[in-house]
Amino acid sequence: MNPKLSDRINAMATSATLAMAAKARELRNEGIDIIGLSLGEPDFNVPEFVKEAAINAINENYHSYTPVDGYADLKEAIIKKFKRDNGLSYQPDQIVVSTGAKQSIANLAMVLLNEGDEVLLPAPYWVSYSDISMVSGGIPVVIPTTIETDFKITPESLEAAITPKTKLIIYSSPCNPSGSVYSKAELRSLADVLVKYPNIIVISDEIYEHINFTEDHASMAEFDDMYERTAVVNGVSKAYSMTGWRIGYIGAPNWIARACNKMQGQSTSGANCIAQRATITALENPPSKIQYMVDAFKERRTLVLDLLSEIPGMKTNSPQGAFYVFPDVSYYFGKTIDGMTINNATDFSLFLLEKAQVATVTGVAFGSPNCIRLSYAASNADIKEALKRIKKVLS
Ligand code: PMP
Ligand code: GLU
Repeated sequence: MNPKLSDRINAMATSATLAMAAKARELRNEGIDIIGLSLGEPDFNVPEFVKEAAINAINENYHSYTPVDGYADLKEAIIKKFKRDNGLSYQPDQIVVSTGAKQSIANLAMVLLNEGDEVLLPAPYWVSYSDISMVSGGIPVVIPTTIETDFKITPESLEAAITPKTKLIIYSSPCNPSGSVYSKAELRSLADVLVKYPNIIVISDEIYEHINFTEDHASMAEFDDMYERTAVVNGVSKAYSMTGWRIGYIGAPNWIARACNKMQGQSTSGANCIAQRATITALENPPSKIQYMVDAFKERRTLVLDLLSEIPGMKTNSPQGAFYVFPDVSYYFGKTIDGMTINNATDFSLFLLEKAQVATVTGVAFGSPNCIRLSYAASNADIKEALKRIKKVLS
């Protein structure tokens, strides 16, 4: 902490996912054979048809600043995607394209939160929601869940967390890190609570929409009585394996989208021109074109769950989407193994890094201190080797 820095940045935690990935990279550079299961980053190449679109865009001399909220034809492609995949209708002034879904969420927090506003975060939540909320003046209010309810909140736990200061609720479905997927009926039961509190806005993070093994994706925005106060976040990082291309977007009520446009115009301007052109092609093609990646993730989920079940004290739910497993490892708390005492999930994650050379992320970063997260967006060989090593150091 440096007193010359702002209180704002001093209060902010470093992103635990990115920090662990950086640490793994550093150790690898030192020649240590680390298997990275820390970062939620598909290991596939960008699909050829998307790459071609980007190459064409370069050859067509796309180079200038882009409209702040995205190219008009990209916004049209996003509108069609929302209609095709989600049955949602938007006008162009309700869409904002950003430099990744992370920026979309940061924009939303900045334009919606005043100092002291409370932000409901069903835990486990994605790492950045809490710090993005705090740097925007909000106060995270965690709604804990348990593995027994598949890490999902209930109408009762939601209502119990609401106060006159509640301004936002942010969640992802499919969920990073638990893989839980809210069904339409479950979302409706939560909406029945939210309609009683008209000041609360919903940020529905649907970036794992296509990586859903239930084949049944539902959005809070589908309900007529929630559409006017739900901002849907999505992007191409996960489904199209385009994490480094940095394109995310929102569909939201016009007043929210226009505020995000204003915010972005004073911070980063429009997103990268080549990546935007490629995203048009990605979204215009049917999701069946990326099904091979979803199928592979589904197989890997079975592989990870099978291998984890052979290790004592690894209690898991059955993730229905995304590419993470989030075992409860509290069985190991208080134990000393190979000279290292494990008192919490952070110790456990560091133990795995040091003794098994496997990078994971502590559940503390996701608001669930009994768990660790393993990403299975890795090759079958890496998954097998990583779980073999973990089993060995714990036996
Ligand atoms: N939301 C969730 C739930 C995520 O896991 C991620 C991971 N990157 C993001 C948002 C941000 O995605 P992007 O790469 O588009 O910024
Ligand atoms: N969303 C990914 C993860 O949770 C990428 C890392 C990040 O953006 O924080 O691992």
